[in-house]
Amino acid sequence: MSFSKIDLDKIKSKILLSSEIEKKTKLHKKGKDYWCCCLFHEEKTPSLKINDDFGSFYCFGCGAKGDIFTIYTDLYNYSFQEAVLELSKKAGINVEKQEYKKYKNEDKIYSILETATLWFQANLYESDAVNSIKYLESRKLTKETIKKFKIGYSHNSKTTLYKFLKERSFKDEDIIKSNLVKVNEKDKIKDYFYKRIIFPISDERGKIVGFGGRSLGNINPKYINSPESFFFKKRNLLYNLFNAKNIARKKNNLLICEGYMDVISLNQNGIESIVAPLGTSFTEQQLNLAWKYSSKPTIMFDGDKAGLRAAFKLALLALPLLQPNKFVQFINLESGLDPDNYINKYTFKNLLKILKKPIPLVNFIFNESIKAFTLHNADRKVEFDKYLDDLIDKIKDKKIKFFYKNEFKSLFFSELKNKYNKENKISKNQIKDSLVDKQILSFIAASINHRLVRSNIISELLKTSLFNPVYTSLLNKLKTPDLCDLDYPKLKDKLNEDKYLKILNNCQDSSIYQLFPYSSPQYKDDLSLAEVKKSSQNLNTRLSNLKKINKSLDEFEKNSSQLNWNELKKINRELSEDV
Ligand SMILES: [Zn+2]
Repeated sequence: MSFSKIDLDKIKSKILLSSEIEKKTKLHKKGKDYWCCCLFHEEKTPSLKINDDFGSFYCFGCGAKGDIFTIYTDLYNYSFQEAVLELSKKAGINVEKQEYKKYKNEDKIYSILETATLWFQANLYESDAVNSIKYLESRKLTKETIKKFKIGYSHNSKTTLYKFLKERSFKDEDIIKSNLVKVNEKDKIKDYFYKRIIFPISDERGKIVGFGGRSLGNINPKYINSPESFFFKKRNLLYNLFNAKNIARKKNNLLICEGYMDVISLNQNGIESIVAPLGTSFTEQQLNLAWKYSSKPTIMFDGDKAGLRAAFKLALLALPLLQPNKFVQFINLESGLDPDNYINKYTFKNLLKILKKPIPLVNFIFNESIKAFTLHNADRKVEFDKYLDDLIDKIKDKKIKFFYKNEFKSLFFSELKNKYNKENKISKNQIKDSLVDKQILSFIAASINHRLVRSNIISELLKTSLFNPVYTSLLNKLKTPDLCDLDYPKLKDKLNEDKYLKILNNCQDSSIYQLFPYSSPQYKDDLSLAEVKKSSQNLNTRLSNLKKINKSLDEFEKNSSQLNWNELKKINRELSEDV
């Protein structure tokens, strides 16, 4: 229901905002404005500014803002209508009668919902509710928790809710409007909830506006909610927000779980700042509602596929709505676990630990997306990059867009680098492998042990780039007329330099002959030549390819990701021009 803006402005002009706020806290005058410590978050130095000219206030600490009506609704938990009526009395202004009548009617419905809540609660301790109690006990809920959340039971054996409400002299018309009953095809009025555990749902101001009902046993659907109505709009409500909101605002911290039972059980464990949507997918309105009390609500849905999907959907929903003081962050529960299972498996202390390390929105979206994507070729990389661009395009706030884009891109490039390093690790290690060193020595051994083909072998070897300068100079010496006919002992006499003796000794290692038989003296000369030729060429090709790969990898690592990104962007531009 709406009041005329003229009436509201009249009320605002009659009641000085600063004098209303002064009833709650000390004011400090600076220039023509008043300042005070914020009424909505804890602080020691004033950051809430009051502007009496406009009848408005703003907190530079937590972002709380509003007018005199906001003080009544958010601080004193009045409904908007109640606040207007209360303040209009104070201001001596008559708000339009018609509006007032409508409000009175609405009030009757709230009264029916309150009365019904008490009836449900009382039912829980009747004998036929024994299975409900058993279920609540199995979820380890204490009597205090059951009372706190006003959990009840809709037994329908002795009497019906409809009969009960009629006895309290509520009119059919209002009872029907409350959605607690339905009219069947024979025009008979029946209770809406039948044999279900009842979870009353209140709005932001603590007024009960509807109910969730959980079936016992195998009755489907497991959960049902009150039907949508003008006062019960699921998309505008968060379960438990009324109880959570003040702590949420104080601590700038709000945990969003998947369902009622998560909220209730975590609350019993001591997490007070916790809410849940009402079994439907998360809406923009709900996100804005959460942001009213915390600039960075944390999403912790169940660790199953449905939970992950819902969380991802929420993440995408949040992108266009992000602002410098409006973020979301995520907790991933281990696969298959809901918060209750998690506590049972790892203790509540561990849950608190993971709650302290939430995943930022960018990382959550990136991690989940990349898992679903294989970057096995260039086309796929381009496709993924385009996908990130489309996500970034959804962000409306320019500053956030800039930083999130950088973050997305750097995550993408470190992913590419990791992937590249992983793929090349094996070959990189192979270079260092002593097997390669041994094979190089085997070629020299072959040339020494096969004097008849020595010069042929050496000229084959010198065609490759397998040998370092010392090896190369040794090979060149070995084919000189002075040395080309000499065997090991004589060579050792002639080549008395340490650097050559060391190589000659290494060549005579028996493992080399075993691994590369062509190098042993027993091998036939012509066969040895043929083998050396083939093997040295193969090794040379392999190593030079690896060198090339490593060189480009080094360059890739040296150059900033910016360059590569520009290339990718160019490709993207070309692609979009093609379309
Ligand atoms: Zn504040």
